[in-house]
Amino acid sequence: MSEEVLLEVKNMHVHYGAIHAIHGIDLKVNKGEIVTILGSNGAGKTTSLHTISGLLKPSSGEILYKGQRIDGTKANKIVGMGVAHSPEGRMVFPDLTVKENLEMGAYLRKDTDKVKSDYEYMYNLFPKLKERSTQLAGTLSGGEQQMLAIARAYMSAPELLLLDEPSLGIAPILVQAIFDAIVDLNKHGMTILLVEQNAYASLKIAHRGYVLATGEIFMEGPASELITNEEIQKAYLGH
Ligand code: ATP
Repeated sequence: MSEEVLLEVKNMHVHYGAIHAIHGIDLKVNKGEIVTILGSNGAGKTTSLHTISGLLKPSSGEILYKGQRIDGTKANKIVGMGVAHSPEGRMVFPDLTVKENLEMGAYLRKDTDKVKSDYEYMYNLFPKLKERSTQLAGTLSGGEQQMLAIARAYMSAPELLLLDEPSLGIAPILVQAIFDAIVDLNKHGMTILLVEQNAYASLKIAHRGYVLATGEIFMEGPASELITNEEIQKAYLGH
């Protein structure tokens, strides 16, 4: 089976002023995969995602989406090309209802029938959102807001979904629901780049993984190998 590369990052460097946060990383996401980026606090995971989605500009290197350079492209244009970002800290519109937040996700779309079936899929995937469709998003629990952030990103009909720490600060019972939902999305054909501190849960569902440490890729490979690697177990899995 031939691999279709959706995203390719080549020798990417990112600076915040004088701070050199990302030191020349390379990574690839093939169509149909769940790829995870692991790493502890400050390793550069969020910076990497923000740079891929166009919120930050790399100081050098290349980012290609379907073979086309997107570094330097504006974030809203990148969404239009099919890359959606569900940011860390949830970032829903607190004064809009759940339904209105989902509508915001879909506002550029003209395929009304597919939009309708996507709402139904999201409400099936996250029944809590259906129950609370008229509730203001700011009054949802942290876990529910996280579900809404993922669902809103999905509603823009991306081919690649970037998820930043979907399990951060969420009750353990909801964490499992969120990881189950990510697997479901992937089974429905969604390609996912997942940034996580919860190394065990993300390696369990991912096909491949990259481990970032102080802005460099320190290890990469199939998730099934990383999860049994002694160094990874010691550093990230608490063994
Ligand atoms: P966490 O899991 O804690 O969010 P992370 O792996 O996502 O960590 P980043 O947030 O990408 O890490 O941070 C990478 C490095 O860049 C850190 O040293 C951080 O202090 C620095 N950094 C992040 N944002 C800024 C900023 N706006 N200005 C200056 N430095 C920043």
